[in-house]
Amino acid sequence: MVLAKEIRCMECEGVYPANAIIFECEKCDGPLDLVYDYHKIQDLILEEHFIRDEINHWKYWPFYPIKHLHKIVTLHEGGTPLLDSRQKKKWKFKYEAVNPTGSFKDRGTTIEISKAMELGVQQVLCASTGNMGASVAAYAARAGIKATIYLPDFVGENKCKQMLAYGAEIKKIKGSYQEVVRLTQQMNMQKGLYLTGDYPYRGEGEKSVGFEILDQLHFRTPDYIVCPAGNATLLSGVFKACREFKKVGLIEELPKLIAVQAEGCNPLVRAWQNKTKIREIKNPETIASAINCGKPVDGIKALLALKQTKGDAVAVTDKEMIVAMKELGKEGLYVEPSGAASYAGAKKLELKGEVVCVLTGHGLKEEKSFT
Ligand SMILES: *Cc1c(COP(=O)(O)O)cnc(C)c1O
Ligand SMILES: [Zn+2]
Repeated sequence: MVLAKEIRCMECEGVYPANAIIFECEKCDGPLDLVYDYHKIQDLILEEHFIRDEINHWKYWPFYPIKHLHKIVTLHEGGTPLLDSRQKKKWKFKYEAVNPTGSFKDRGTTIEISKAMELGVQQVLCASTGNMGASVAAYAARAGIKATIYLPDFVGENKCKQMLAYGAEIKKIKGSYQEVVRLTQQMNMQKGLYLTGDYPYRGEGEKSVGFEILDQLHFRTPDYIVCPAGNATLLSGVFKACREFKKVGLIEELPKLIAVQAEGCNPLVRAWQNKTKIREIKNPETIASAINCGKPVDGIKALLALKQTKGDAVAVTDKEMIVAMKELGKEGLYVEPSGAASYAGAKKLELKGEVVCVLTGHGLKEEKSFT
């Protein structure tokens, strides 16, 4: 059962059918948002067992655009712990490293590949900074379809090995992540292949980070949710999750959302602070490879998220991420540099109150050691 009603452009109000294979607005190239029948969802979920059921990604199925729930492609993603900080009073960590492929990307991929199967797709393409490629490779293997992953050459050995282990074909391209994205987009148009990545279906799946946090807090709104931002799909997904839980009456207020970027790749932070449009960073540089995206796909949505929740955006240095990684280690948490960015950013802003930092990716994914 699909409760999605339509796809709506967030810029020009252009409207498309909910099942259209479309990656941006055909009229204005604006970002797209999938809109659901929230009254129906309310009837479905406001039952006692929903509140009591254990958290996991598929608990929130009415908020996903999936037709056949018995045919989903899943590796049991989500259901990750929300842990109290030992060092910072009232701060919590959403530990996404324990997802099946080691990052939160699996939440988007389960939706994206389940959708690909509904559409009868035989092969998927993906442009990735590493973790998305690994995730798409795993779920494509699970579905028995072919995955070809295009990568900028800064992607590390461990992530490449992970993709190969799942049987994906990988192609390394000289150039930035943005150049790799452009290449796959051209191929998508030419050959009609299914392009996975930071597009509407993925964002729908990444909402479950937000759903789970609110659920784990017993539907109490924290003061802040802090996310690292590369393409800002995670941040936009968390924003949408909060709006949707508010729409169906599960929470009353939105948390303030905080985007954290690397100083060497901070297009969102610049746009937020200077109140300008997002401009591509041409030669981004940071040890945080997973957020090395010069032109965030979901940048416009992210800026809306910051504005509507009275949030903020901040850039952290590589050094600050390394310090944050070490402090997280003392909490028993092992993350890659991008995964520590949220914590580094929250500390830099000296946030007060109940703060949830999303720790996005596993430390084992990174072969370099930092001191
Ligand atoms: C993808 C990723 C991010 C950034 O997520 P976006 O949705 O691109 O903003 C952050 N950390 C890790 C570990 C990731 O894999
Ligand atoms: Zn439009």
